[in-house]
Amino acid sequence: MYPDPKGYYGRYGGRFVPETLIPALQKIEKAYAEIQNDPAFSQELAYYMKNFVGRETPLYFAPSLSKMTGQARIFLKREDLNHTGSHKINNTMGQALLAKRMGKVRLIAETGAGQHGVATATAAAVLGLKCTVYMGSKDMARQSLNVFRMRVLGAEVKEVNKGSQTLKDATNEAFRDFIQSFEYSHMVIGSVVGPHPYPMIVRNFQSIIGKELRIQFQEREGRLPSHIVACVGGGSNAMGVFYPFLQDPVRLIGVEAGGIDIIDGQHCATLSEGSDGILHGAFSRLLQDSHGQILDTHSISAGLDYPGVGPEHACLREEKRVSYVHVSDKEAVDAFLKLSEMEGIIPALESAHAVAYALKIAGELDAKAALVINLSGRGDKDAEEVISYLGGENHGN
Ligand SMILES: *Cc1c(COP(=O)(O)O)cnc(C)c1O
Repeated sequence: MYPDPKGYYGRYGGRFVPETLIPALQKIEKAYAEIQNDPAFSQELAYYMKNFVGRETPLYFAPSLSKMTGQARIFLKREDLNHTGSHKINNTMGQALLAKRMGKVRLIAETGAGQHGVATATAAAVLGLKCTVYMGSKDMARQSLNVFRMRVLGAEVKEVNKGSQTLKDATNEAFRDFIQSFEYSHMVIGSVVGPHPYPMIVRNFQSIIGKELRIQFQEREGRLPSHIVACVGGGSNAMGVFYPFLQDPVRLIGVEAGGIDIIDGQHCATLSEGSDGILHGAFSRLLQDSHGQILDTHSISAGLDYPGVGPEHACLREEKRVSYVHVSDKEAVDAFLKLSEMEGIIPALESAHAVAYALKIAGELDAKAALVINLSGRGDKDAEEVISYLGGENHGN
């Protein structure tokens, strides 16, 4: 089972960081190994997952979507119902409890759209830890509501006005802070990216999604699903739902953001279009030009707008265990509207990518097919984005 002791998933992964950060990563690795065999830690995490986050999340049969597409049955794993509105809290609560175990008093996080920042600030607040979130100036302007939420939760939001003033630069600044403060701080990385052991730790905390799904699906149907579809930004909700099924005959499909078009700068379909390279501490696939400069990316969903992807996904792609596909902004918005109107569930634009692809393939499947979409988050946060995409057109009546 991956990763190997050095943090590799096949050729991908590893630990490509400044020498000064190695001791901090080794300490996290050691502390994580200890809590994995500690029933008291599992109990504490389970307590917060149930009573604070609101797990388990339902497995919901989507009758109207199923009927519309044909014979296959479509189910939704409702991560949108978690506290703070997405799967991100599964990881931030786990890492915050780990930080506490390590005697740390402060959390550091990087954030793009602010969803991971809010989930980290929330975990810090409930556990009585300090919190600093790094966020690019551009993102702070675009996501002012999340900046407000983080500040209300007691976090300090530090503006990063270097480089492209987005997630990539915020991540660099967060690492810089961590190098200077790891004696008392823990850096909470928000997806299955970064240097070892982060991709493994985040995957394991997020695997609660797939573990629950397995039990729920077995209880309901007496079998496993035929397909599981999840969107892929950095890849944490997808890894979390896929991981417990890697050894099973279940088709796993990761859906990336195809943006406006598959032209440099207009998408962020990293696994579909990228190449080998190193970003934020790991060897993986990424979107870069022929000189190794990171390309600009675009997606209507801020949470998928990242030029890299977790190393385990790079490996699963190479092994052909998971298929990676992409859908466009337009297809995602169409799916956002469809799911809202037909099932009464407004999905996050990220999750709408998974919905869009599931709708594309469901029509060609037979009655034995049972397809699960991992609904990673709710869509309230995306109202403005969708309004401006539709050109101010009010979609109500
Ligand atoms: C952040 C986010 C994503 C993308 O992150 P992954 O690590 O790829 O899961 C997807 N959906 C929602 C709702 C998000 O907030």
